[in-house]
Parts: sequence; C-alpha cells; structure tokens
Amino acid sequence: MTTPTTVAQALQHAREAGLARLDAQRIVGGALGRTHAWLLAHDTDGLAEADAQRIATLVARRAAGEPLAYLHGDQEFFGLNLHVTPDVLIPRPDTETLVHWALDVLPADRPCRVADLGTGSGAIALAIASQRPLAEVTAVDLSDAALAVARGNAQALGLTQVRFAAGSWLAPLAGQRFDLIVSNPPYIAEGDPHLPALRFEPITALTAGRDGLSDLRQIVAQAGGHIHGNGHLLLEHGHDQAEAAAQLLRDAGFTDVSTRFDFGGQTRCTGGRWRG
Ligand code: GLN
Repeated sequence: MTTPTTVAQALQHAREAGLARLDAQRIVGGALGRTHAWLLAHDTDGLAEADAQRIATLVARRAAGEPLAYLHGDQEFFGLNLHVTPDVLIPRPDTETLVHWALDVLPADRPCRVADLGTGSGAIALAIASQRPLAEVTAVDLSDAALAVARGNAQALGLTQVRFAAGSWLAPLAGQRFDLIVSNPPYIAEGDPHLPALRFEPITALTAGRDGLSDLRQIVAQAGGHIHGNGHLLLEHGHDQAEAAAQLLRDAGFTDVSTRFDFGGQTRCTGGRWRG
C-alpha cells in the first residue's frame, strides 16, 4: 500500500484496512487533532509523511481490534473527558446508571462520605464528585497503575475532594464509615464467551471466579461494617446477576434492596440500605 498523501487517501486506506467509516474518520481526525467537519472540508489537503505514518500505525492497531479509547487515550463518561490506558477498564455508558442512582441517594446541600471500590480510571468517583462538590470521595483500587490514571484524571478535572487508596476492596479503609459505597467490580465468569472481545482490557478488571460473583460476594460481606446506619451500598453487575446480587445483600443484612436497568434495558445495578 502506498503512503497516503492527502486526507482523503488516508481515509480511504483506513476503509480498505477494514475500518468502519466512523472509526476511520475518528482515527484520522484524532491523529491530526481535527474535527469531523474539518475532515469533510479538507479532504484534498496534503498529509505530512509523519502524520501518514502515525495514522497507518493507528489504523493497523484498530484493524486488530484495539478499542478506539486506548488508541486516543481518552473516553467520555458522564460528561467528563477521562484519560484511559490499557491499565484501566474503558468506562461504559451502562455504568452511568450507577452514578445516577448514587446521585439520587446523596445530599446536594451538605457534606457526605462516599467510597468507590475498584475505581479504575476513576470514572464513578469523579462523576459523583463533579456533581456533589460537598462529597468527600475515596477511590480505591488494587492496581497502582490504575490509581495513577485515576489521580491524573482527578487532577486534570480539578476535583480535589477525591482521595485515593491502594488495596483490595475495603481493606485500605479500616475504621472508616461512609454514607455510600459504590462499586463496578469485575463480574464476568472465567471462560465467558464474551472475554475474547474484551482482550485489550485488563483481565483483573473483568473476571471474578467461576460464576462472576466472587468479588461482589467479598464486597457485600465487607461493606456493612463500613456504612453508616441508613447508608447505601450500590453495585453494578452482569445482566443476569440481579437476583444473586439482591440475595447477597439481603443475606448480609441490607434492606430496601432493589435493582435498576441500564440504557439497554438490562438489569445492571442492585443496591440496598444498611440498617446499621
Ligand atoms: N460491563 C463490562 C462488560 O461486560 C464488564 C465490566 C465489569 O466486569 N465490571 O463489557
């Protein structure tokens, strides 16, 4: 394949490599730092050799299945632009369901304490912090590399009320209690047929034992001791795990257990209130 010398040729090469039209436009536009509208107006513009090479590399990576979010290094979530690397799960729109629920239970006019377990890029913690300036949010992750990404996002967004802790679930929060604990933990069963499609994302952020429930079990078992009376535990889970998650919460002593649906109409989050 000859090196493209115009914007139009770069787009065409990307299409010939098997990319969807929108992916091709996003990669070429992203590499040149230009909008979709600019691409349409400037398709006969010449392309510098270095830009052409950079685009060719990105096109090859996308054609091999790498998510656009990792190629661009960012992903939008709840109106926030988040930096993402392969050390963190790419934030999903489904997870906005969990943020909406968190905002429903958090006061807007007084301080409160929130913990986000397995924060990854920081998506949930930062979305909550952006909407509740009086909330003090603690974001926990086992992965130092993930925490570095989350910290960078907090800094870039100026969300100074978010602090960070390294460790497994509630282990680094000994002696602390919260008004709300939220988590989007790994919940896919090992060997699940969907995993190959997610192969670019960190496996430790995705799988949780043979039934996908092992991390949810641990979180529910630990959480009660860290929630104020009448505080909430809200969890994201797989589309077919709502009943299991609800049972875990009831067995652990949570009340008012209920489930919410994601934008795709799947049961996606289950939560309850701690009697205290
Ligand atoms: N919702 C993600 C997916 O199925 C999985 C995220 C998770 O395991 N927490 O692609």
